[in-house]
Amino acid sequence: MFFLYVSNWKVINIAIDGYSSCGKSTLAKQLAQELHYTYIDTGAMYRAVALYVTRNNIHIENNPDLSALINALNDIVIDFRNNTQSNKREVYLNGESVESFIRDPKIAAIASQISQIRQVRDKLQQWQKKIAQKKGVVMDGRDIATVVMPDAELKIFMTANAEIRAMRRYNELLGAGKNITLEEVKQEQALRDYQDTHRTEDPLVQHPKARILDNSLLTTEAQLALAMKWVQEVMQVST
Ligand code: C5P
Repeated sequence: MFFLYVSNWKVINIAIDGYSSCGKSTLAKQLAQELHYTYIDTGAMYRAVALYVTRNNIHIENNPDLSALINALNDIVIDFRNNTQSNKREVYLNGESVESFIRDPKIAAIASQISQIRQVRDKLQQWQKKIAQKKGVVMDGRDIATVVMPDAELKIFMTANAEIRAMRRYNELLGAGKNITLEEVKQEQALRDYQDTHRTEDPLVQHPKARILDNSLLTTEAQLALAMKWVQEVMQVST
């Protein structure tokens, strides 16, 4: 709906960071669609590595098997493609669409653990930085503005009330047929928030130049309108 406005604008990068389940991917997808940009879900990349680790029985909890993990990283290729069957852009692990496996809370928990390991971050960040060089990228995650795209013209830090986030994720998981309680979702979310903000390697922190978007009480349309206003402002400054 905003495309007429933006067709002559300079191509920029947009970094979106924030807590689990606060709607980063919804906003990132909306922006990518409006601006005809590439959307990169970096959480899906960590989840794909977590899936590989699980499938190959690589020990991660308490004293992880680092040498097996580092070897595994050399065997992993992750990319995003349009799945011709679902007609959706999905994450592929070594040529297989793994979208339907990686959203499981168990995989999210392992993703949160392996994302604390420097070698894993180095490998994924290297791919992410390469993609960002092309410009016209909307990337979401935890370290995008701080590490992966510090030059992104627009940096957004997303947040929302923890209860509201948990309820949204709970409804999403129920909709996907998962057997889980709201209490379990709240606990998993609190643990991931804690790990993501307290880890040594690239913890989730708000970049000083990021604009804060609290969407606790915003509709998806309202959050898109606000972000598009910011895109416009950034364009005016950088042209
Ligand atoms: O965003 P999502 O919930 O899919 O991410 C899964 C996990 O991957 C997060 O809990 C976080 O630990 C990790 N992650 C990260 N850095 C990113 C993206 C995700 O550490 N850029």
